Order: sequence, then structure tokens, then C-alpha cells
Amino acid sequence: MRFTVSSRLRAISFSDRCSSSDMMPNKLLFPNESEGFAMTQPKQQVVSIQRGRYKPVGHCIYCGEREGKLTLEHIIPYGLLGRLELPEASCSVCQDIIHPMETWLQTKLLGHVRYRLELPPRKKRPRPATHPMVIKKDDGGQARVEVPLSELPRLMTLPFLPPPPLLLDPGVEPSRNFSWWTTQDPDDLAIFARTHGQGGHAFIQNFLMDYFVRVIAKIAHGAVWGGIDQDLRATFTMLLPDIITGKQLDWLPFIGGDEEEDAPPEEFLNVIEPMIVPMGDKEYLVVRVRLFAPMQAPSYYAVAGVRDVTRQ
Ligand SMILES: [Zn+2]
Repeated sequence: MRFTVSSRLRAISFSDRCSSSDMMPNKLLFPNESEGFAMTQPKQQVVSIQRGRYKPVGHCIYCGEREGKLTLEHIIPYGLLGRLELPEASCSVCQDIIHPMETWLQTKLLGHVRYRLELPPRKKRPRPATHPMVIKKDDGGQARVEVPLSELPRLMTLPFLPPPPLLLDPGVEPSRNFSWWTTQDPDDLAIFARTHGQGGHAFIQNFLMDYFVRVIAKIAHGAVWGGIDQDLRATFTMLLPDIITGKQLDWLPFIGGDEEEDAPPEEFLNVIEPMIVPMGDKEYLVVRVRLFAPMQAPSYYAVAGVRDVTRQ
């Protein structure tokens, strides 16, 4: 899927809500009762954890592998200030599948924002002097330009997804339509256009929806392993691992958004909020994932687990 950012700009100033120094990295909202909690009964203690290392898992949380080298997982990608660590949680096979998706998110989709906001790189290597962006030229053609880090525009586009069909009330037709959310700094774009011509504010990115939703699923699944009480988690059948590793292609029932266009900003760069959603004779373990929450980016909801209520 290909889109031109400039055609969908919504004027929300980026700069007043975001500098890397005043952003709190992560917020996890955890229940205080191990027996559960519901969307409709938000009786949960809010525990904010910005940094932490959970108990080692001892097997791959995606495929179950116990042999071989198990590596540490960052629940939120490190390049997005993810500082929540899940040791011994991924085998090398699954890591090879997940790594390119996280790399795409952090370097291709959000690389210019990360460099401009000076979010730290994954590996301790010197920052490049420039970062490439593809722009639409005044004559309608495209050009790849190398942009000095300080001139990278603060602009970001993410999808507004319809709710996951699994969480819709009976009789409500699922939607397959989605729209784009964009935030931008107009001053940055004006400077960019002066340097690169009038077309220089139209950036072209490849948006890989499949990668994007699988990274959201990965964050949700990791949060369930790290942050949910083990006994509570054991009552649920996990739903996301095969989506994350690409064995199951149809992610649509499980991952979506809330289409809330003006959700209030949150203080933390990343917000993870697990919840239990009762639907008929089932209960779903759902994780809200919101990256770039101070900039009012959309929330996503991943249905990470299911259990029968009758069994309880
Ligand atoms: Zn694995």
C-alpha cells in the first residue's frame, strides 16, 4: 500500500507535545485483582512501569520452543524507548521472522521521527549525518533525498483501524475500511519545502499493513507474558502467536482500533493496557497498545487470548 502523506495532513502541531526529553517512555496499566477486570468495570490499580525486566520465560513465547538459545525480547521495540524486557523469550527462528518487521517500523516508517526526536538507536553506533526520504517532486516525479537529521520533518502517519470484529456486539457488521491519522509540524514542512521545492513536503512511504499489525500483536502478546499474573494468563488460550510469526494470515478478526479521532493525549510515549472483555459466553483478553500517545496517535486493540466463561 502506498500513500502520500501530504494529501491527508491534519493540522495538529507536533512540536508542542513532543520533545524526547519530556516524554515518559512507557506506561503499563495492570489489574490489581488476579481474578480479572472488565472494560465496563475499570476497577484497576494503575501501575506505571517505565523500565523493568520480567522473570525469564524459559521458552519461546511465539512457538513454544525450549531448546537452543532463547533471547531477550523488548516488549516495545527498543528504538521507541521500549525498556520492558522479557528474558529468554524468543527462539532464533521466531526472532528472524520478527526482526525485519520491527526494523521496518523503527527505520522505514518512523526512522525520520526517531532521529529528529533523538530517540536512541538499538545499537551503540554513531548516528548517520543524514536520513533518506522519498519525496514527490514539483514535476510529479519522485526523488530520494538525504536529509540532515536536524531538518527531518516531525510528521507521522498511522492507520485508524476499525474495531476487531471479535469485539463487536452481535449483529454489528465488521468494517474493512480504514483511514489515516497524521500529525505534523507545519514549520518543519515549510522549511523542507524551501529546501526541496514545493513538492518537497509530499513524502512517500511504503506502508506495510501486515508488518504494522503484526508488530502491534507482538507488543500485546509480550505484554501478556510480562505483565499479566501467570495464573490468570493460564486460563486463556493465546491467539496471537501464529499471526505474529506469519503462520496465520488473517489477522483482521483479532487486531483493530477504536476510530476515536480526538482521543486525549497521554503523558507516556507508549501505553499498554490489558483488559478483559466479556462477549457472550466468552471472555477475551485484550491489550490496548498506543504508541506516540502524547501526540494523540490512535490506539490499537489486539485480542490476545480467549476463555470460555462457563469453565470458570
Ligand atoms: Zn520460536
